[in-house]
Parts: sequence; structure tokens; C-alpha cells
Amino acid sequence: MRAWVVHRPGPVATGPLRLVERDRPAPGPGEVLLRVSVCGVCRTDLHLAEGDLPPRRPGVTPGHEVVGTVEATGEGTSRFAPGDRVGVAWLRSTDGVCRFCRRGAENLCPGSTYTGWDADGGYAEYTVVPEGFAYVLPESWPDEKAAPLLCAGIIGYRALRRAQLPPGGRLGIYGFGASAHLAAQVALAQGATVHVLTRSAGARELALTLGAASAGDAYDAPPEPLDSAILFAPVGDLVPVGLAALDRGGTLAVAGIHLTDVPVLDYERHLFYERQLRSVTANTRADGEEFLRLADRLHLRVTTTPYPLDRAADALADLAADRVHGAAVLHVDD
Ligand SMILES: [Zn+2]
Ligand SMILES: [Zn+2]
Repeated sequence: MRAWVVHRPGPVATGPLRLVERDRPAPGPGEVLLRVSVCGVCRTDLHLAEGDLPPRRPGVTPGHEVVGTVEATGEGTSRFAPGDRVGVAWLRSTDGVCRFCRRGAENLCPGSTYTGWDADGGYAEYTVVPEGFAYVLPESWPDEKAAPLLCAGIIGYRALRRAQLPPGGRLGIYGFGASAHLAAQVALAQGATVHVLTRSAGARELALTLGAASAGDAYDAPPEPLDSAILFAPVGDLVPVGLAALDRGGTLAVAGIHLTDVPVLDYERHLFYERQLRSVTANTRADGEEFLRLADRLHLRVTTTPYPLDRAADALADLAADRVHGAAVLHVDD
């Protein structure tokens, strides 16, 4: 089969990914084999390719927003049958026994593994997934629109919850890519006023189309103080900017897995009056199930930019340069 691998991590212009021929994987015990239809392109894939996330395995295949069809099932599986449509997300396994797993915080499990980081992901014609960590996707959703829900959507949803937005509150969103454009729609459906702050003119336009009250440049001040803010851009310099934009008691949640250095904060300007700075780490399966139901019920509009599998490297380069409208997706089965 054809598969992309992280060959030599480095700036995307240096060609860190290679398209290679590999044997089709076999499903191990508890796993199912999928024929991949569509795989979303996530900023985490870019961090992995560029070495911001240290590779956990040489030659790993990225991709953790996978929609595919079950081709074969491994020993001891019972949840899916050949022909079923299945989604694969970032969280791939947990130990199930640690203090975090036992209290419903499996996203913090120290023994967790991740798709496209610890194990090969969906930038390939076939992939395997432990059946307990696969998702049933809402039926009416086409593959191309369902794929971005699996990381961009789920993580954006967790970030929104971590931002503790009060009912009818004022939400600031810094950076407006795949994840942000889905989280914004959930917030709007819940009655929030949304202000988007991003350097990309195209993204500002998309934000206004989706119902944002305002769209400014990344470092602009929003037109009113914010109850909550989410930082989607992986830019530490925006942390004090987002904190300064908060009203008293406001919360800034940092959604990304990687952030450049955060500058020195000024206690009075950035944190006093009980403002909070929080991180967001992966998601639990319960977050995923809940978000997929919500996406279906709210008829979220998923904006995608499609690429064929052999143009995955271009998709990552476009993502790095803010040239992607909404979510980039790879059509693997074309
Ligand atoms: Zn655990
Ligand atoms: Zn992701």
C-alpha cells in the first residue's frame, strides 16, 4: 500500500515526509483493519513533521482524523463487522487502571498512546485501530465532512468546555482554522457572542459568514471584554494578549499540543481579578462521543479543502502558510 512517513523531521520546506510503499498492516488482537477513505490534516501532523513534537517511532505514518471501512477484524473483537464505517481519532489507547483513568480523566493517562505518533495513522491506504478507541460516525455525514470532526472538532469542543464560557457569554477565538471554526459554531448555537482574532483575511471572512460578531487581526483588542477565550494559534506571544482581553474572572484555554514560548506575564495586567490560564490535553472518549452527537444535532458546517493522498506534503505546507480554508482533508481512496 501507499503510505506517507515522517522521514526526517524538519521545516516543512525541507520535505520531512516521504511517500513510500509498505505492507498492508494486519489487525492484532482487539484491533480492526480499515481501508482508509478520508484522513483529515491536523496541525499536530505539522508539529510532528517539523519536529516540534519529538517522534516516538522512526518512520511513523501521521494522520489521526481517519474515516474508513472495516476490512478485517482481529482476534477477540466484537464491536464492528467488515463493511462498517469507522472513525479513528488521536487517543489510541490508555492503561485503564491509573488514577486518571479511574476518575474519568483518561486524557491525562501517563500510559496513553496516540494515533499517528506512537502508531501508524491515516496518511495511508490502510490502517489498524483498537476497536475500543474507534468511533461510530453519524450516518448522514459524508466522509470528507466527518473526518475533521475527529480531532479538530473533538479537541475544539473540549477547549470550549475548558474555557468555562458562561451562558450567553462573550468568547474570543485566537486563530481560526479547522478546530476553531467548529468550536465557534457550537458556542454560537449555545447563545455566545463570538469575536475572532486571526492574521488570515480568509479566515476572518469565514468567521463572519458563520456568525461571529467581529473578526480582527490576531493582536487586535476585541470590541468588548471577554468572559472566555481560546487560543488555537500555536503562538505563545498571544497568551498575554488573550489574558489582557479577558474581563474579571475570565478564562483563557490554550487548545494546542504545542505552543511557542510564553513571554513573561504581568500579574496585575494578565492574571489578577481571578483570570485563569488553562491548557487542554487531548480528550476522553466521552468527549468524543458527546461532540459527535452534538455535531450531528447542530448540523455543524464543516468547511474543507480537499487534497489527493499523494499531495499530503502540499497540504501540510499550505497549513503552515495559512493557505487552507477550514480543514484540509486527504482523499485516500480516489
Ligand atoms: Zn490510565
Ligand atoms: Zn489533531
